[in-house]
Amino acid sequence: MISDEDFIKDPKVPGPTKEEIRCLVMCKSEVSKDDIVVEVGCGTGGLTLEFARLAEKVYAVDKNPKALKITNMNLEKHKMQDNVQLIQGSAPQVFNELPSFNILMVGGSSGELSPIIENGYKKLNPNGKIIVTAILLETRLEAILNMQKVGLKPDIIDVHISKGKIIKRGTMMEGRNPVAIISAKKI
Ligand code: SAH
Repeated sequence: MISDEDFIKDPKVPGPTKEEIRCLVMCKSEVSKDDIVVEVGCGTGGLTLEFARLAEKVYAVDKNPKALKITNMNLEKHKMQDNVQLIQGSAPQVFNELPSFNILMVGGSSGELSPIIENGYKKLNPNGKIIVTAILLETRLEAILNMQKVGLKPDIIDVHISKGKIIKRGTMMEGRNPVAIISAKKI
């Protein structure tokens, strides 16, 4: 994994997703070298770069031009632009411009999760995966219910990480925000 400190950041753009969460997302996605990945809400590019290392092609979408700019800077920094296409647009509308894919990663949805899952599912290849990372309680539930609505069986994990910080007297464990990872495979 790329360490959190190795990303260029912009205070106006969320991310990068913390290293340990990225690690779990990669595991759950079962990404492999022939996969086409569509990422909705690339933010700082935290997950874009991890997918780019392992997949054949990544379409990284964000509605915020600043997010695409910072993701591009991170791709350049790590010399990983080759198999990533950046697209400014909003999901679910953006699916019309894209080919079918094996992995749909949703890191931001702004209340559109229901149509994103419904339309994304239609373009998802058999054995493909949908993964949603959720900070909000409401997004967790929306992801579960909408995956079930299209006939998927979601796997739900809620991840609470504490990270050790060395201080004078020892090691202080600092809690990070809990994140849920909801994933499902199309059979
Ligand atoms: N996983 C990213 C952070 C994602 S932040 C990282 O590791 O860096 C969520 C992003 O989703 C934001 O940049 C926001 O602009 C974008 N977003 C939210 N709803 C969207 C939608 N419907 N379509 C496209 N992008 C969206």
